[in-house]
Amino acid sequence: MHQLDKKIPATLIPGDGIGPEVVEATVRVLDALGQPFEWDVQQAGVAGVEAEGDPLPAKTLASIRERRLALKGPLATPIGGGFRSSNVRLREEFELFANVRPASTLIPGRFEDIDLVLFRENLGGFYVSHEYYIPIGDDPKAAAVSTGVNTKEGSKRIARYAFEYAVKNGRKKITVVHKANILKALTGIFLDAVREVAKEYEGRVELDDMIVDACAMQLVMNPWRFDVLLCTNLFGDILSDQIAGLVGGLGMAPGANIGKDAAIFEAVHGTAPDIAGKGLANPISLLLAAGMMLDHVGLQDSATKLRAAIYATLNEDNIRTGDLKGTATTREFTDAIIRRL
Ligand code: NAD
Repeated sequence: MHQLDKKIPATLIPGDGIGPEVVEATVRVLDALGQPFEWDVQQAGVAGVEAEGDPLPAKTLASIRERRLALKGPLATPIGGGFRSSNVRLREEFELFANVRPASTLIPGRFEDIDLVLFRENLGGFYVSHEYYIPIGDDPKAAAVSTGVNTKEGSKRIARYAFEYAVKNGRKKITVVHKANILKALTGIFLDAVREVAKEYEGRVELDDMIVDACAMQLVMNPWRFDVLLCTNLFGDILSDQIAGLVGGLGMAPGANIGKDAAIFEAVHGTAPDIAGKGLANPISLLLAAGMMLDHVGLQDSATKLRAAIYATLNEDNIRTGDLKGTATTREFTDAIIRRL
């Protein structure tokens, strides 16, 4: 276990929109926890273009490459200029193959006692961006084509990561989500690879499989039947927002991008332009992402303390931001968390 007096080097990316607000809140809370990280602040997204003329500046990449650990706010893709998503580029650059998105009930809502973890394959599927138009007659964009790619090795890698996680965290069942009845090759290869890996874990973790449309319905009808969800890239992207909805929305959803060369922690939500700069953002998603980051570096005690403070602030102090029908500003909510640490 790391000592708090030996700070862990990490890159901090404030990001765009509400990013700087929730990042500031998170840094203040981590400060109150003894600030285990030594931050190197770097820009990306629109802020990266403003600072360095690039949504993913070389300095930012170098910092992450050296430190192998980052906490980032949401990034907007600059409109015009043909920029690719910085998030997709970061995943590719550092081979961040596993996207881990937990969803647990923290406040009473429509669904009680939700405790799910979703694993999303982060590098393949339809996100490899093989897209083009086909001209017909005088219409240059008469048809559109998108090609997805899933590899056996890539599918096994995320499957093994999810099974190892299940074993370490006492999870009993993994549901692999697919559409192998229609996308027979693209999602069939994923399903087969997961089934093969599952054999190594027989007797320890049960494997279940479900077609994505049925899974979307079951997540609303009976979410308690699930424990761990294992998804291809696009289905994971969609279903992870859905499970965030089971626990109060995007303000409550953290994510980790784990890879061979780095680990980057972030909120699932975007830059929330409608509330940016107003001091209204709910910082819980990024705080929970910081909690995952503390777990990742072996500081489980600090992570547990952080989660307990969030829980007490919401439920005992009854202090909540607007998205949770409360009246607290980001700063008031953050101050309340710090009082609970
Ligand atoms: P969004 O997540 O930014 O916002 C959706 C809705 O949720 C908005 O009404 C917003 O106010 C609300 N919301 C989100 N986070 C909140 C929080 N912490 N507290 C309170 N309310 C919150 O999604 P969007 O509007 O589709 O996307 C906006 C921009 O963000 C786009 O440019 C998109 O590309 C980008 N984006 C970035 C990331 C990322 O960097 N990881 C992820 C998703 C979207």
